[in-house]
Amino acid sequence: MASPYRGRFAPSPTGPLHAGSLVAALASWLDARAHGGAWLVRIEDVDSPRCLAGMDGLILGQLAACGLHPDEPPCWQSARGDAYAAALQALVERGAAYPCACSRSNIEAAWAAHGIAHQRFGERIYPGTCRNGLQGRPARALRLRAEGVVDWHDRRLGAQRQDVGAEVGDFVLRRADGLWAYQLAVVVDDAAQAISHVVRGEDLADNTARQILLQRALNLATPAYLHTPLVYAADGHKLSKQNGAEALDLEDPRAALQAAGAVLGLPMLEAATQAEWLAAAVAAWAGIMASLSTRN
Ligand code: GLU
Repeated sequence: MASPYRGRFAPSPTGPLHAGSLVAALASWLDARAHGGAWLVRIEDVDSPRCLAGMDGLILGQLAACGLHPDEPPCWQSARGDAYAAALQALVERGAAYPCACSRSNIEAAWAAHGIAHQRFGERIYPGTCRNGLQGRPARALRLRAEGVVDWHDRRLGAQRQDVGAEVGDFVLRRADGLWAYQLAVVVDDAAQAISHVVRGEDLADNTARQILLQRALNLATPAYLHTPLVYAADGHKLSKQNGAEALDLEDPRAALQAAGAVLGLPMLEAATQAEWLAAAVAAWAGIMASLSTRN
């Protein structure tokens, strides 16, 4: 029997919800409701220097104003350190993760010695210097030994493939500053919360292959994935908290929902109340998903 549908929205409390993050929130809620499943909210506050005080409460309030109510009490990643530590320990014991002593400049120097400039999003791919030990240097971060090509399916984007070893390299699980990396925290929590379906913004699609590698290394199930279209600002940049996207205007939650729905391909929905609008949106979403599953 298939496991019950459990979806989630996992905002980082680094700023209020904006038009782009509402698209991901709404899509994950619609997909859970269309499947008769549960919808959870997880506050991803592991990157504490980037989190802003009070933002979690503000985001939960914004979701509530839009009628998006989680089915279980929200969970905070800052309270989950023991679970991340246990997963990391298991990975180290299996030889899947290893300590790394390299600083950014060590990594630059290692590549310079090869005369190659491997870069990805402005970051050097890790050259694997500490794979065979620290050579007496103090450990800074812990990395996953990333090997293999991951083929995965996105319910909207179709077949995806990434050679994680070659394209991303051994990635960080615990940072040199002691903070947990997003990749480890999200994989441990999706499994702990028995998330069957991940629905999130397309900017995160590139992380999926890394997360699948980690799931495999930890013997965890891989959920189904769907990445939603992004919202672009007038200057062509993706809307994000980092480039100062405006907080949702919740004077008129219906207008915000309607705009997010339009990004997801929902038609203009006539409804007397917000609850009716959401119910109509669930039906429209189910129709869109049915046509997607015959296409992909
Ligand atoms: N916390 C991540 C973000 O706000 C989302 C993580 C996820 O949905 O996997 O970008």
